[in-house]
Amino acid sequence: MTEPATESDLGSVFVSNYPPYSRWTPEETPALDDVLAQSAGPAPPDLGLYLHIPFCRKRCKFCYFRVYTDRNGQEVRQYLDALAREVELYAAQPLLAGRALDFVYFGGGTPSFISPKQLLGLVVRLKDALPWAGVDEVAFECEPGTLTEAKVRAIREIGVTRLSLGLENMDDGILRENGRAHTTREIHRCIPWVRDAGFQQVNVDLIAGMLGETWELWRKTVDETIALDADSITVYQMELPYNTVYAKRILENGGENSGGDAPLFASWQTRRDWHAYAFERFAAAGYEPSSAYTVKKKGRGARFVYRDALWRGADMIAAGVSSFGHLRGVHYQNSSSWDAWLEAVSRGAFPVQRAFRTSAKERLIRETILQLKLGHLDPGYFRDKFGVELQDEFDAAFTRLERDRMLTLDREAIRLTPQGLLRVDSLLPEFYEPEHRELATA
Ligand code: SF4
Repeated sequence: MTEPATESDLGSVFVSNYPPYSRWTPEETPALDDVLAQSAGPAPPDLGLYLHIPFCRKRCKFCYFRVYTDRNGQEVRQYLDALAREVELYAAQPLLAGRALDFVYFGGGTPSFISPKQLLGLVVRLKDALPWAGVDEVAFECEPGTLTEAKVRAIREIGVTRLSLGLENMDDGILRENGRAHTTREIHRCIPWVRDAGFQQVNVDLIAGMLGETWELWRKTVDETIALDADSITVYQMELPYNTVYAKRILENGGENSGGDAPLFASWQTRRDWHAYAFERFAAAGYEPSSAYTVKKKGRGARFVYRDALWRGADMIAAGVSSFGHLRGVHYQNSSSWDAWLEAVSRGAFPVQRAFRTSAKERLIRETILQLKLGHLDPGYFRDKFGVELQDEFDAAFTRLERDRMLTLDREAIRLTPQGLLRVDSLLPEFYEPEHRELATA
């Protein structure tokens, strides 16, 4: 049965960092300058580069990212030029000079929005600034309707190893209703190009609980996704942040989500049921979980270097408007204003709007909660890296979660149960320090 969402099903529970973004401040941005002025030292952590391409053909109705749908060709070129310039500024800093990248991530927005010529031109400058020769992974997000055969070849040519296709759903009515720009015809059109290009790994993304979803349509989406035979499949549960059109509609309706003939949003419980159903079907089709959100096809060696490096405290340069980075324990976010970001980069300054210098305890909590999203924690890793016994450190949180049957504990492994894995994000504030508990979202 599809349970409709009510007011208590609104909001966002997804956790992507710690401490929460609302703790980061403009006053702390000098902390980034401090770490950039240090030398890398003898054994620096892995180094990544996140590139934000903030353009989309259309704005999805549930989107809360910084994206632009109205920029002309000249503005796109200006943006890409500044993006390369920003990376060149980083490459000249003592902390990063001479270091090679371990992973690169093209995110957005829609990285596949830009043309092959723009992409190739951007990458020449990026590679000149920071070597790519030894990268473990170059990941690239695509919106199916923006792809052409020539563009897929260009994406392969620049060295992308992990291509991620944002399918979200396999029903045209649902895609249209939720404001997605692409159609299922465009999905099927690009799949042969992607196969022929021979990427090391192809991932596809789905969202459980888009507006108008039903059990029948979700089963169809799951079946048709399995038929695509991707190396990994990622399923996110639809979130309804309060500032979205959809959440406002439910609030105006007195917390009810049953407006006449209007399509319904499903409750958290139904979204979790759909997520669980998809994972069961994927398991029967030869996939195994690699995190709370992703399954990978057995025997194909699918990895997600960006995720694993980030969740283990890697350094990551953020480039592009509004993007998030982390260098030597300092979190930072770039300006979310197009003009302010461009202006700072053009005068050779880092376009950072807020930052946060973490304590050792905050870094420990950050890695604990992010790695828990893998479904298990390795106490030996935390012993070696932080010199702590994880179970002693978070005794109260683990005991509560074990009592609620969300995880199982023993000395060498802490494992989420299937029901814990499905709601992992809502469990993570258990580990927060008291001063950060009420601030889970920015
Ligand atoms: S494609 Fe992604 S980034 Fe672009 S509007 Fe839709 S959800 Fe937002």
